[in-house]
Amino acid sequence: MKIRAINGFKDILPDEALRWQYMEKVARDIFERFGAREIRLPILEKTELFARSIGEATDIVEKEMYTFADKGITMRPEGTASLLRAFIEHGLHVQQPVQRLYTIGPMFRHERPQKGRLRQFHQMDVEVIGASEPQVDAELMAMGRMLLDELGITASLEINSLGCPDCRPGFRRRLVSFLEERRDQLCRDCSRRMDTNPLRVLDCKNPGCREQVQEAPSILDALCGPCDGHFAEVRRCLDSLAIDHRVNRFMVRGLDYYTRTTFEFITGDLGAQAAIGAGGRYDGLIEQLGGPPLPGIGFAMGMERIALLMAQQETSLPGPHADIFVAALGEAAAAYAFGLVHQLRRMGLKAAMDHSGRSLKAQMKQAGRTGAAFTLIIGDNELERGKATLRNMETREQESVPLLADATEQAHSLASRVRENS
Ligand SMILES: [Zn+2]
Ligand SMILES: [Zn+2]
Repeated sequence: MKIRAINGFKDILPDEALRWQYMEKVARDIFERFGAREIRLPILEKTELFARSIGEATDIVEKEMYTFADKGITMRPEGTASLLRAFIEHGLHVQQPVQRLYTIGPMFRHERPQKGRLRQFHQMDVEVIGASEPQVDAELMAMGRMLLDELGITASLEINSLGCPDCRPGFRRRLVSFLEERRDQLCRDCSRRMDTNPLRVLDCKNPGCREQVQEAPSILDALCGPCDGHFAEVRRCLDSLAIDHRVNRFMVRGLDYYTRTTFEFITGDLGAQAAIGAGGRYDGLIEQLGGPPLPGIGFAMGMERIALLMAQQETSLPGPHADIFVAALGEAAAAYAFGLVHQLRRMGLKAAMDHSGRSLKAQMKQAGRTGAAFTLIIGDNELERGKATLRNMETREQESVPLLADATEQAHSLASRVRENS
């Protein structure tokens, strides 16, 4: 019996991993352009951290976490809580009043696996802690937009404001009384959410619920003066950077800790409308987790979904191609090639050879599979005459090149030749 991976857990095979490497490379580059520094975090945290940050009454905490109940620990279902825990624990705010941090890694949620949604999934998270200015909100969205643009992915940006502890409770009461009258028409989940997390009814995907909430009061009409001003300024900043966005008053996000700005990057290219990145402001959360009273805002990008879109849109990737393949015929030639390939690698080239003494034809085939730009062909006779054949694999032109006794010198001359060509 073969042992297979667990349902919802997926291997990322080498061809696919190329895409992931490229995605991460572009992301790190962009995050760093915006001044963010990497922080690497553990996968296991105390369960209480997520209960206190994400919220007891959220789908995540209620039913999706992988928790080792006897140990009181949980595999992180998202990145923000862990990042803030580390931020507080190490007093990072003392170093710098505004911290921009990013982290990349796996998260775990026990959901029904579907296309682009796994139980172990990966996110790239960026958080800005210590700044409440609307410019920062717009800057984060600009960062997300830049990342998607550079990966060749089209997505629309939707934004909303969830208000603050001053204005949200009043809205919540108005919403609950609106929903009370329609409780019978709502799905079972929403009927339950009404008592625990009524805002979530607004973004229920059930068509019946969607229809019911069309006439629901809008949180944007209920914002207090400062929240209203903040939201207007965020939008003005986005306009000033020519970043298209649409206000979606039904977007509430699944986590309790959001305040004011929330946003999502949405694509229709994965079948149903799906968010590939989302985030928002969480101004009270750091204090709630026992830290200083600092504001914060962040977003996470779903890497599985981005990888799917990159595959669909055939985003061009830098290949894993070898720069040069050394085909050796005969024992002496193979021994020489063995040293030469090592020197080429030390010089930073991707060099490959065959170790099994196969025919020239078989080795040329192998050279083709590695995608090498050049193949150097060395036979025992050629080794004696101090000559080898260099073949340009693209143009198929061949030329005779001198073979130097010293493999290091030979590698130097080949390396400059290969670099000239690329
Ligand atoms: Zn407010
Ligand atoms: Zn519903």
